[in-house]
Amino acid sequence: HPVILWFRQDLRLADQPALIAAAAEGPVIPVYVLDDDAPGAWRIGGAQRWWLHHSLAALDKSLQALGSRLTLRRGKAAAVLAQLAEETGTARIHAIRHYEPWWRRIEAELGDRLCLHDGNQLTDLEHVKTGAGQPFRIYSSFWKALQDHLPPAHPEPAPDRLDAPKHWPKTEKLVDWHLLPTRPDWSTGFDADWTPGEAGAQARLTDLADLVTAYEEARNLPGEEGTSRLSPHLHHGEVSARAVWHAAAKGDDAWKFHKELAWRDFTRGVVMALPNYADVNGRARYDRLHWRTGAAAKRDLKAWQQGRTGYPIVDAGMRQLWQTGWMHNRVRMIAASFVVKHLLIDWREGERWYWDCLVDADYGNNAVNWQWIAGTGVDANMFGRIMAPLSQSEKFDAGAYIRRWVPELKDVPDPAIHDPEESGCLPEAYPPKIIGHREARERALAASRMI
Ligand code: FAD
Repeated sequence: HPVILWFRQDLRLADQPALIAAAAEGPVIPVYVLDDDAPGAWRIGGAQRWWLHHSLAALDKSLQALGSRLTLRRGKAAAVLAQLAEETGTARIHAIRHYEPWWRRIEAELGDRLCLHDGNQLTDLEHVKTGAGQPFRIYSSFWKALQDHLPPAHPEPAPDRLDAPKHWPKTEKLVDWHLLPTRPDWSTGFDADWTPGEAGAQARLTDLADLVTAYEEARNLPGEEGTSRLSPHLHHGEVSARAVWHAAAKGDDAWKFHKELAWRDFTRGVVMALPNYADVNGRARYDRLHWRTGAAAKRDLKAWQQGRTGYPIVDAGMRQLWQTGWMHNRVRMIAASFVVKHLLIDWREGERWYWDCLVDADYGNNAVNWQWIAGTGVDANMFGRIMAPLSQSEKFDAGAYIRRWVPELKDVPDPAIHDPEESGCLPEAYPPKIIGHREARERALAASRMI
């Protein structure tokens, strides 16, 4: 009997334990189901649909090279898979385990016929728990406990062929899913930066050993290519975290990079313990915070989304996000802190915008980082720790980065580039600050004192 291999955010053939297990059992029917219903408000966002289209096309091509192919279906995943199992006479479905709450619900619905494998994290997260058997909520404790399971297992190579079933089930056509944007096509800047799929991910590993050597300092400088840009590949599982770990370990002093990579595992533990973490404050007391709403707040939110706040570092980040589907981590923090603290807008508004615009949008990573910055999370800084965008910009030498993404400021020299308004060289085309830093800070602190 054939078996079904159910792909989700694990769109690869190398180091794919579900594939290895399926291939050992019989002819394999690889399947991807587009389920826009189960995730509710967290259905795949716009930028990620672009990525998914190209990644599925790449996966199908790689499968064809092994004598196999990808079957595409749309609908409620549990029902679609049950139907497909009936059509093809399969009794078993193999898949890699995922931690988004909707996946866990569907995994439970599929019951015994589903055979789950660990493989997208550095280690099986069941092994990394507190003394009380709960997932960790504090990163430093998680990292400490993870040490007992490091280094992770070495990655397995891709197979060189896959047994095909006697009959292939019907497949939908990828183009009919309309995952690519049309009017307007905002993805024109994506192609230059990204090659979705397993080969694109492997290409990013080539120089990783060199990159990690300089990572500790370079990672904070938005103007440099100091980080791996593996996040969309990791989110879609085009490369396993274990493979990334071992590629990095070839460099000198990979610990800082390894420690950042492990954040990804940590956030999965948080959403395992707190499935609604993307929607609900980690600390309930923040339910009482009076976020700004109404017309003025809406206008401010729009200025933030469009990169027109008058704070160059924030605007550069927001435009990089819109044009390329990615933003540098340091700037993600600054821009997130700005919308929450300076504009006093509910962090969930910012989180949703990132979700729609990021090619690496990831339920756990996005929610945990937003709640951490907002100060509402279980492991977060105090709300009163407010990032100062202008001095951050100076400290991390963002001049070239700003000139690249905010062309109105391309002729503003250092050091005026960080705060052209204050330096008296505000170009006509660029807006003055939406709110002064001190005023914003006081407003945020006052709001937090009220709860
Ligand atoms: P590198 O520095 O090269 O790190 C390697 C890998 O480690 C990353 O690809 C990522 O998988 C993991 N990693 C690194 N830092 C973090 C972190 N802080 N949290 C979780 N994983 C991390 N990352 C996402 O993958 N998806 C998101 O939706 C997301 N939303 C974010 C929202 C906010 C407000 C902030 C502050 C950060 C967010 N991040 C998110 C984390 C981080 O910014 C990105 O993972 C990183 O910028 C990706 O670039 P890179 O691959 O070059 O990272």
